[in-house]
Amino acid sequence: MSQYDVIVIGGGPAGYPCAIRAGQNKLKVACIDEWQNKDGSYAFGGTCLNAGCIPSKAMLESSELFHRVQHEFAVHGVKVGSVELDLATMQKRRAQIVKQSTLGIAGLFKGAGVTGLQGHGKLLSGNRVEYTNKDGKKEELTAKHIVLAAGSAPIELRSLPFDGKQIVDSWGALEFDAVPKRLGVIGAGIIGLELGSVWRRLGAEVVVLEALEAFLPAADGAVSKEALKHFKKLGLDVRLGAKVTGADKGASGVKLKYTDAKGEQSVEVDKVVVAIGRRPYSKDLLGEGTGVQVDERGFVTVDHECRTAAANVWAVGDLVRGPMLAHKGKEEGVMVADLIAGKIAEVNYKAIPSVIYTAPEIAWVGLTEEEVKKSGRPYKTGSFPFLASGRARAMEATAGFCKVVSASDDDEILGVHIIGPMAGELIAEAVLAMEYSASTEDLQRTMHAHPTLSEALHEAALNADKIAIDFPNK
Ligand code: FAD
Ligand code: NAD
Repeated sequence: MSQYDVIVIGGGPAGYPCAIRAGQNKLKVACIDEWQNKDGSYAFGGTCLNAGCIPSKAMLESSELFHRVQHEFAVHGVKVGSVELDLATMQKRRAQIVKQSTLGIAGLFKGAGVTGLQGHGKLLSGNRVEYTNKDGKKEELTAKHIVLAAGSAPIELRSLPFDGKQIVDSWGALEFDAVPKRLGVIGAGIIGLELGSVWRRLGAEVVVLEALEAFLPAADGAVSKEALKHFKKLGLDVRLGAKVTGADKGASGVKLKYTDAKGEQSVEVDKVVVAIGRRPYSKDLLGEGTGVQVDERGFVTVDHECRTAAANVWAVGDLVRGPMLAHKGKEEGVMVADLIAGKIAEVNYKAIPSVIYTAPEIAWVGLTEEEVKKSGRPYKTGSFPFLASGRARAMEATAGFCKVVSASDDDEILGVHIIGPMAGELIAEAVLAMEYSASTEDLQRTMHAHPTLSEALHEAALNADKIAIDFPNK
């Protein structure tokens, strides 16, 4: 007899929603999570709530206010005296938001009848799980279904191992107790740009070393180009094609050595954040003979419904293929809990939004113009600059644009790309449109309130057929 219907190993944004939905489906469910904060306390919520999405957004928000009050208020006729940074208060607020968010999960578990178990979970053969509790006591649990949701961990640079002081990962960089005078960021990916922006706004000189020649290659080309312009304006010293070869650490800082098109280079900084991607985390997760397969990069192999090669063992979130995003993991977790309950469920992998929470914000869903061009499908594009939006002008937030990429054969919306104010919120309309396979005409015929930023997306859709009203069609 199974003790549980479902055991979820991992309580991050993929695992905890899976457990909650399983509970809502009237299944007997336990969620095991081993996340420990730096003070040794246990907390549900995984990377996202404890050391990722939530604390980084708290710091982005606070640092943006600090930046705006100094650089953007005067034009509104708002004069402020001297502005002072109180980093301790800023950090305290971040920590409180994290605590509030992670404690909330305990309440949600209670409401859904989920048993939260804090400690380590290891999958054994035959749908058994070895659970080691906080005191090190081991217990064997069984379940009809097991969901692996162990998440990911930062990739370390062999030439620059983390030391928690001078060379840190993103978690370390969120919790600096003083603004570094000179900050080195390795990797101009999402973390590098978000955390680089935070510390630049708070006063650090920030140099970003990116191995690739191309900047933000995953984004639409027009967006990447516009974004780089704004990051440079903020003062991020982005060096492309820079391959880090090593570092000399001394009491006064770190000399980062790298090569680029010009040859050997170096730059001196006080602290370094290594943000070169994350790897699936499966330390002591799989026992002998489970039948679960792992690919050469360490991702647990799953099909489109997140089934592993072992019967009734599923895997979701950062542990499996696809973008490492909290909302992608959440939808996978919920889908699996519904499939286990015998319901129809699926994840639409074509409509996963990406958001970079910088200023201006960057967001997209679907294919870039470059990807559509490569596919050979005939297409059309429409753009609308925020400079032409009444609301954006009123907000003094005119940087960026909305861009729609659509098929010219059947008018299907293939991708939407936004750089500008509230891009991360605006993209939701495009995701919904794509989820319902909307045509460009559907978007054109949808009424948008005036004056709102969302009108920019409407006008971009109109511009795809050269019928924009508020902007000369090109
Ligand atoms: P995780 O969140 O990593 O959770 C896995 C959990 O499982 C952890 O608590 C771990 O301790 C636990 N665990 C692992 N192994 C075991 C085991 N054997 N037994 C018990 N427990 C175990 N994504 C976004 O969508 N938006 C953002 O704004 C965003 N910002 C980010 C900012 C930063 C700085 C970082 C680092 C990431 C950010 N991400 C963001 C990515 C997001 O955090 C991840 O995609 C998401 O957390 C993945 O969820 P998960 O549940 O798969 O894994
Ligand atoms: P990333 O994959 O976004 O970017 C890593 C960057 O580092 C790439 O540009 C890569 O070319 C570069 N790089 C790799 N090796 C390098 C080297 N040796 N030297 C210099 N540059 C190198 O990864 P990340 O920024 O670490 O983020 C990890 C994951 O977390 C991502 O998958 C991302 O989706 C997720 N995340 C999401 C958000 C968000 O949704 N807003 C925020 C933060 C993190």
